[in-house]
Amino acid sequence: MSKYLIVGGVAGGATTAARLRRNDESATIILFEKGEHISYANCGLPYYLGGTITDRDKLFVQTPETFRDTLNVDVRVHSEVTAIDTKAKTVTVRRVPQGTTYTETYDKLVLSPGAEPVRPPIVGIDTPGIFTLRNVADTDKIKAFVDTKRPRRAVVIGAGFIGLEMAENLHQRGVFVTIVEMAAQVMVMLDHEMAAEVHQHFKVKGVECYLGDGVQSLHPQGDKITMKLSSGKDLETDMVILSIGVRPDSALAAAAGIQIGVTKGIKVNEYLQTSDPSVYAVGDAIEFPSPITGKPTITYLAGPANKQGRICADNLVFGNKSKYKGAIATAVAKVFDLTVGSTGASEKLLKKEGIAFHSCVTHASSHAGYYPGATAMTLKLLFSPEGKILGAQGVGYEGVDKRIDMIAVMLGKGGTIDDLTEVEHAYAPPYSSAKDPVNVLGFVAQNILAGRTTPVRWDQLKDEKDAFLLDVRTPDEFGIHTFPGAVNIPLPLLRGRLGTLPKDRKIIAFCGVGLRSYMAERILKQSGFNAASLSGGYKTWEHATMKQSNEDIFSKDFIGKDSHIYQTDPERTDPIRPSFIQLLEVDAMGLQCPGPILKLKTEMDKLPAGGRLRETASDPGFASDVASWAKMTGNTLVELVQERGKITAVVEKGGGTPITPMGGNNTTLVVFSDDMDKALASLVIANGAASAGKKVTMFYTFWGLNVIKKVKKPAVRKDLLGRMFGMMLAPSLHGLKLSKLHMAGMGTWMMKGRMKSLKIDSLQEMLDAALKSGVRMVACTMSMDVMGVKMEELVDGIEAGGVAAMLEAADTSRATFFI
Ligand code: FAD
Repeated sequence: MSKYLIVGGVAGGATTAARLRRNDESATIILFEKGEHISYANCGLPYYLGGTITDRDKLFVQTPETFRDTLNVDVRVHSEVTAIDTKAKTVTVRRVPQGTTYTETYDKLVLSPGAEPVRPPIVGIDTPGIFTLRNVADTDKIKAFVDTKRPRRAVVIGAGFIGLEMAENLHQRGVFVTIVEMAAQVMVMLDHEMAAEVHQHFKVKGVECYLGDGVQSLHPQGDKITMKLSSGKDLETDMVILSIGVRPDSALAAAAGIQIGVTKGIKVNEYLQTSDPSVYAVGDAIEFPSPITGKPTITYLAGPANKQGRICADNLVFGNKSKYKGAIATAVAKVFDLTVGSTGASEKLLKKEGIAFHSCVTHASSHAGYYPGATAMTLKLLFSPEGKILGAQGVGYEGVDKRIDMIAVMLGKGGTIDDLTEVEHAYAPPYSSAKDPVNVLGFVAQNILAGRTTPVRWDQLKDEKDAFLLDVRTPDEFGIHTFPGAVNIPLPLLRGRLGTLPKDRKIIAFCGVGLRSYMAERILKQSGFNAASLSGGYKTWEHATMKQSNEDIFSKDFIGKDSHIYQTDPERTDPIRPSFIQLLEVDAMGLQCPGPILKLKTEMDKLPAGGRLRETASDPGFASDVASWAKMTGNTLVELVQERGKITAVVEKGGGTPITPMGGNNTTLVVFSDDMDKALASLVIANGAASAGKKVTMFYTFWGLNVIKKVKKPAVRKDLLGRMFGMMLAPSLHGLKLSKLHMAGMGTWMMKGRMKSLKIDSLQEMLDAALKSGVRMVACTMSMDVMGVKMEELVDGIEAGGVAAMLEAADTSRATFFI
C-alpha cells in the first residue's frame, strides 16, 4: 500500500489527490494545506470582491469534508509543511494555530505550493490598507475593508491579469481606480499595439492609468496613504492593491536540496519528477522548458496546474509513462468590456530570444457584419519564416476567446499557418463569417510568406522616410486624418492613375484596417511597382502612437473636463417605458461631432410628444452633448449608457422646460481668434461680466484654443498632423501676436510694454483672474481633434465640450459675442 503526501491543497495539489484516489483505491493520501481552505476558485476571487459572485460558498469547489467523504483523502488544513528530509523520506508539519510540529513519512511526495505575490522592499509597504491577493483569507480582508471603509480611491500597483481584474472589480464597487505600472504598457504578454487598445479603453471607462512609472514609497496620512511615484508625482489613496507579480514558492524544495531552476522554479523532468526521484512537483512552482522557445519557463495559470496534477498522479501510480509537453501560456482576461487573450510567444519575447518571426495584424468582426451586433476585434499572429505558428494575441468585445483557443489548439500541436487557413469552424451569421477571422489570419500569413504582400508594421513606418505614402481610402476619410505628404487615390480609381505613381520609390499603401491597402498593393505589385502595405492599417498605427497613459483624471479640474465619463445618473433613469410609447432607433455610430447631435435633432422632430428615441453613437463628445441638448430643448434624457465603445442615449420628447433663448442674464463668448488684442478684449469682457455677477461661458474654438494652452505643456503623443499644427501654431498665450501693427514683433512688444506701464493686467493675469472668478471655459472638442490639441495641453480648469454645450450657454445669455 503506497503512501502519498501532497503539499498544497488547491489547483495542482487537489487535482493530484483526486486522480491518485481514482488510480489507487488502497493508497494512503494525505493532503497538507497551510491555509483554511482547499480546492477553491482563486480565479473567481476578484469577481467575489466586485460583487459579480455574490455567494462566498460558491468559491469552494470542494471542502475538506467533501474531499474526505468522496475521495477518502486525509485532508489536513492549517498544516504547513516546513521541512522535507529526502533521505529519510519524511516531512515536518507545523500545526498553524498551535505551532506544534510532527513528522510524517512518505513513499512519494508531491509539491504544489503555488506562487506567492512579490512584496518589494518599498518604504511603507506594510502600511495598513495595502493588500495583496492570493487566497480566500486575503479576499476576506480586502472585502471587509471595502465594505466597511467604503474607500473612494484605490491604487492598483502592477497591471498584470490579477491587477486588472482587481481594477475592474473595485471600479464596479464604485471606487475611483488608478493603475500604476512600471512598464510602458499593461499586460506583459501583449505587444504594444495590442496593449494600446486596452489603454484607450481605460479612458472610456474612467480608470486612471500611469504607465512607465514606479512606486518609490508609501506613507500613511491618517486614514489615507500617500504614494510617491518615480516621476515625482504624489498620489493620495484610501487603499492599495499590490499586484506586481508572483514568484514560485520554491523555498521548501530548495531547503531540501531539490534542484531549483534559473527561474527559481522547481526543476522537473517531462514526467513532472524533481531531481529527487521520490518527489514530484506541479503547478505555479515548477520550471519547465517552453515548447516554443525551449527556454526554462514558469506558467502561472490554472489550466496547466490542473492538467499537470492528472499526469503526475498517473505517473505516481503507473510509473513514468505520461509525458508533460509544457504549456504554451494560453490566457484570457476580461478587462472591463474587453476580452484580451493570448497564446504562445509575443513579438517582444521572440525578439528577446533572437527567434526569427513574421507578424500580421488584422481587424475583424466577431461575426458576419450584416447580422446585427457584430463588434470589432483585433488579432495579431506571429509565425516563423517556415510558417510555424509561434503566438497570437486578440483584443475585442466578443469572440476573442474562441479565436485564441482555435489558434492555441493548432499551436499546441505544432501547427502552421496553412493549418489556420483550413480550420473548419462552426458558422452561422450570429457566430462567425464563412471565412472566420482565424482563417483570414492564415490567409494573410500565407500571402506574406509567398511575397504577395510586404507588411510594414506600425513601428517601422517612421523609418520609411523615402517611401511614397499612398492613401487608398475615400476622400472623406483622407480629409479627416492621414499622414503628412500622403497622396490620396481611392482604391476604385487606382488602376486608372498608375501613371502618376513613382516606379523608383517604395510605395506604402494604407487604408483603415489593411484590407483595401492589400488590394492596392496587389494591383501595384503586378504592375511592376515596389509596393508594401501598412499592417493593421491607420487604425493600428493610430492606437499605437496616441497617448497611452491617462493621468490626473481624478483631479477636480479633470472631472470637470471629462464629466461625461462619470455621468452615471442622468436626470431620470427610467429605461422601462410603457409599451405604447414608440422607441425610434437612431444609429449615429461612426459620425463625428456635431453629426450625432444634428441627427438627434432631425429625428426628434419626427416624434410625437412623449415619443422616445434611442441613439447610439461612437463620438465620445456625444455623452456630454446629449445631456446639454436635452436640457436646452426641453426634452428629457431618460438613459445614458457608455459601454463597449458605444454611447447609447434614450431621449423623450418633451417633459422639460426649454430654456428660453435670450431669456437669461448670462454672457457667452465664442473665442475663435488667437490675435493678442482680440484675446485681450474677450477676457476684458469676460472678467467684467463675471464681476457684474453674470455667469460667463467662453467657448474656445479653432485658433482660439491657442489662448488657453499651458505655457509648460506635458509631453503628449500626437499624430503627424497634430505635431505639424503644434509646430506652426502659437504655443501658448505668450506667443500671440497683434492682429494689426505686429511689425515683426515690434508692435506686439510695444503693446505689452504699454499695458505694463498703464498697469493693465497681462493676458496671463486676465486669464487666471477669469478662471478664479468662475468663468466657465469650454474647449471645442471638434476643433481640438482637427488641430491635434490634447486636453493635457490646456490650462487646468478648462472643460471639453461640443456645440451643444456652447448653444446651451448661449441660450441662457443676454449677449453672445463672437471674437
Ligand atoms: P495554488 O492554487 O496557489 O495552491 C497552492 C497552495 O499551497 C496554497 O493554498 C498554499 O497555501 C499551499 N501551500 C504552499 N506552501 C505550503 C506548505 N509549505 N505547506 C502547506 N501548504 C502550502 N489562472 C488562470 O488560468 N486563470 C485565471 O483567471 C486566474 N485567475 C487568478 C486570480 C487570482 C486572484 C489568483 C491568485 C490566481 C489566478 N490564477 C488564474 C492563477 C491560478 O490560480 C494558479 O495558476 C493556480 O492556482 C496554481 O495552482 P497551484 O496548485 O500551483 O497553486
